[in-house]
Amino acid sequence: MSKSAALHAGSDPYVPRHGDPNVEVLHYDLTLAYKVEGNRLDGDAILTCRVLAETDGLHLDLHGLHPQKVFLDGRAHRFTHLRGRLSVKRPLTAGTELTVRVKYSGKPRPISTRTLGSAGWEELEDGVIVAAQPHGAPTWFPCNDRPDNKATYTLRFSAPPDYTVAVSGELQGTSRKGNAVTWSYEQAVPMPTYLATVQIGRYRRLEHAGGPVPVRTIAPPTFSAEDLESSFGAQTAMLTFFAGLFGDYPFASYTAVITEDELEIPLESQGLSTFGSNFVDTDWESMRLIAHELSHQWFGNSVTLQRWQDIWLHEGFACYCEWLWAEESGISTVQAEVEKHHELLAGLPQDDLQLADPGPELMFDDRVYKRGALAVHALRLHCGDERFFALVSGWLTQHRAGNVSTEMFLEHVGREAGEEAVALLSPWLFETELPSCPGPASD
Ligand SMILES: [Zn+2]
Repeated sequence: MSKSAALHAGSDPYVPRHGDPNVEVLHYDLTLAYKVEGNRLDGDAILTCRVLAETDGLHLDLHGLHPQKVFLDGRAHRFTHLRGRLSVKRPLTAGTELTVRVKYSGKPRPISTRTLGSAGWEELEDGVIVAAQPHGAPTWFPCNDRPDNKATYTLRFSAPPDYTVAVSGELQGTSRKGNAVTWSYEQAVPMPTYLATVQIGRYRRLEHAGGPVPVRTIAPPTFSAEDLESSFGAQTAMLTFFAGLFGDYPFASYTAVITEDELEIPLESQGLSTFGSNFVDTDWESMRLIAHELSHQWFGNSVTLQRWQDIWLHEGFACYCEWLWAEESGISTVQAEVEKHHELLAGLPQDDLQLADPGPELMFDDRVYKRGALAVHALRLHCGDERFFALVSGWLTQHRAGNVSTEMFLEHVGREAGEEAVALLSPWLFETELPSCPGPASD
């Protein structure tokens, strides 16, 4: 094994050369100042780290930005920065805790790879979005970019006063100094790097009444309160419905950010989702995605995969939640959606996709979503509603704010519903041929 291969041996094979398995970050303290005009970011990041395995140094991810100074436990330290890897040499034993401080700056831009496409910091017409899944977090802060390293965050973000800064966390307050406003946020629930986000735009906020936690939409003032209520206002009813099925909403609030630009697809972050202006609509295509992104707060954001190959645990359940909401809101029934999508799926190639390990190129392929949701339905029909929803909410409660794998899910299914249920899921997950459409037993 070459030296570089050894260094990256612990990376997730879907997102190679990201993350350091020898270290975990416990807390990120980020102080960031941004100039919209000229797209200039100045950052000061203090990472509280714990060493997990003996190592000769630390490796962080930072793409397209320039580290100026690095401090270990407050003392300046030499570093290298090569192909997005910020490395410091120092022998460290397991269990050591230390702080790593990085002062950096530059013009943030998306990261793009052949297999995973583009992600991360992106300038809009007049503002910024960060859509980091799966490999974009290092485009705005130095981090241990692995989904299984969840950490808490403190974030102070300065921007020109006419912009709103929305972050995946709880707003603690704002303060104005000179020609900048600083927005202070805390994220107290451990969060993986890819679910951290910042959204900047000339926005206003609308609070939706009636949810068990604050539910709000942040959108350009061109949208009227009525427009936003008729589309995104449904989020409170959705949140109450999902909480009834799956257990309490896992975070302190939920925010939908709507950008002035149109965006092809919405994206979930922790406690926050981002939509293009094209989703302010009451048609089913918008409503299903509003439900989908919200359901990710349980499936993906609270209970998160350990490795990217298990993405069906996020997308299969989120897609199934679309169908649950279709039935709850009187649009359709789950069984009708199951039959429609099984038929559509049956018309597509199967042999290039294994649900439990689709490969990085196909991890966001629509077939992962639909086949995953069909597998969930097959499990539900096998268990019956009472046992199925108890099984799923038990899974979410046991692993709240944690990381999981397909193997862990199958163990849970085995415990709660027996080995027959595991055997039933097996061909959906590990074979390529499409099992027959799950439907009510005819006898
Ligand atoms: Zn999704």
